[in-house]
Amino acid sequence: MSAAVAVQMVVMKFGGSSVADVAKIKRVAALVKRRRDQGAGVVVVVSAMGKTTDGLIAQAREVAAEPNRRELDMLLTVGERASAALTTMALLDLGVPALSLTGSQAGIVTSATHAGARVLEVRPYRVQDALAEGKVVVLAGFQGVSYAKEITTLGRGGSDTTAVAMAAALDATCEIYSDVDGVWSSDPRVVPDTIKLEALSYEEMQELAEAGARVLNAQAVQFAKAKGIAIYALQTPHDGEARTGTVVRKDAPPPVGGVRGVAHRTLLHRLIGRRSDALPAMLAFLDLHHLPSGQIVALDDRVEILVPPEDAHGFASACAGLAPDALFGRGDDVGAVSLVGQGILEDRRVIAAALALLHEHAIAVHGASTSSFRVTFLVPAGASAEQAARLLHGRFVASERVETR
Ligand code: ASP
Ligand code: MG
Repeated sequence: MSAAVAVQMVVMKFGGSSVADVAKIKRVAALVKRRRDQGAGVVVVVSAMGKTTDGLIAQAREVAAEPNRRELDMLLTVGERASAALTTMALLDLGVPALSLTGSQAGIVTSATHAGARVLEVRPYRVQDALAEGKVVVLAGFQGVSYAKEITTLGRGGSDTTAVAMAAALDATCEIYSDVDGVWSSDPRVVPDTIKLEALSYEEMQELAEAGARVLNAQAVQFAKAKGIAIYALQTPHDGEARTGTVVRKDAPPPVGGVRGVAHRTLLHRLIGRRSDALPAMLAFLDLHHLPSGQIVALDDRVEILVPPEDAHGFASACAGLAPDALFGRGDDVGAVSLVGQGILEDRRVIAAALALLHEHAIAVHGASTSSFRVTFLVPAGASAEQAARLLHGRFVASERVETR
C-alpha cells in the first residue's frame, strides 16, 4: 500500500469474556488478522482474561482487609498485561507482525488517583511508530501512568476507556467487542423482555453507564463525546463478520423521547452529613482517601454523597476511622433505579407514574434526583432495586416495544 493512501484505522477492544481462555485468544487473533488483511491499521485493546480481575481483588482482600490502592494497581495491571502478551504471541504465530504495550508504554497518562485514575492525555508515539512499521499494536487495557511515573488503573471496566482514548488520539473508529451484541434497554440477567438499542446519544449512554449499566464505561463515553468519535458495541463473532450491535455517536437520530433504558444498582454507599455545612469536610474526606464521589444531595438540614461501590476500595476502613459524633457518617442501605432517555423530563407524568408503581409494590423511595436525561430513585438495597428495575422497565420500556430508531 502506498504511503499516500490513508489507511483506515480501527481500535478493536475485547472484553474479559472474549479472551477468557487461550482458545478464545486465538479466535481474537484470527479476527484481528482478518481485519488487517482487509487493509485496516489495527490497534487491539484487551481486558484481563475472564474473571481474572475479580480473582486478583479477592486475593488482595485475603492478605489485607483494605488493600493499599497503589499496590492494588500494581497487582491488577498484571491481568491485562498477560492477555496482551498472549494475544500478541497468537498474532505472531499467525504470521502477523505485532507488539504488545502496557498503558505506560503506550502513552496513556493519567491522574494520580490509584484504582480510579482519569486519563489526562494520550501520547501515542510508540503506538504510531509500530503502526507505521506495519505492526498490529496490542494494548493492555485499563491502565496508565501518572506524571510521577506511578502505575494506575482506570476503574472497573476501564479497558473501554483505554480503547476510546486511544481511538480519539489516533482518529480511529472504536469497536468494543464483548459477549453481548450491543447495549440493551436493561440488564437482561435481571429484567425480562429487554430490547436492543440500535443507536444511542452520548448523553444517554453516559447516563446509563453512570447509573450502573455495565456495558460501556462512563469515562470512555465522555472521551468519545469530547472527540466526537463513534463507538460500536458488538458481539465477538465466533467466525465471520460481527453482526449489528449498538452505535453510540454524535449524530444519533433525533430523540424519540420517553424512557429508553432502565439501569439499577443493588448498592450505593452513602456518606451522610448531619448538617448541610458538612459538605466541604465530606468532600475533603473522600479526597484524602482517594474515593470517588457520585451524586451529591444537599438540603437545608442535611447532605448526602452517593459513592458507587465498584471503585470504592477502602471506603469501609476510611469510615471506620470516623468518630461516632463526627459531622458525617456512613450508610449502606440504599440501591438505585434510573430511567434514562433524551427529554425524559418533558413528560412529567413519567415521574408520578413511576412513584405510583413503586408505591403500589411497597418499594420505599428514599430520595430522587434528575438530570435532563435521567430520573433516579433511591430504593432499599438488594432485591428491591432489582424488582424496581423490572417493574419500571415493564411499565415504560417493554410496553412500548417498538424501537423506532
Ligand atoms: N479487567 C478490568 C475489570 O474487570 C478492566 C476491564 O475489564 O475493562 O474491571
Ligand atoms: Mg474485565
